[in-house]
Amino acid sequence: MTLPGVKCKVQSCKYWKQGEQCDASAIEVNVDGGGMSARQSEQTNCHTFMPK
Ligand code: SF4
Repeated sequence: MTLPGVKCKVQSCKYWKQGEQCDASAIEVNVDGGGMSARQSEQTNCHTFMPK
C-alpha cells in the first residue's frame, strides 16, 4: 500500500511506484547538512530513499 498524501518524483528509489507514489511503510525527511531548520524546500530530502 502506498503512503497517502506523499507525492514523490524520485523514480530511481526502490520504493517509488507509478503515479509518483511511495510504498515505504514510513518516510524520514531531513534537513540538508543536518540540523533542524530549513528555509527552502530544496534544503530538505528523504532519507528513506534506497537506490534500486
Ligand atoms: S522513500 Fe522517499 S525517495 Fe523513495 S519513493 Fe518514498 S518518498 Fe520517494
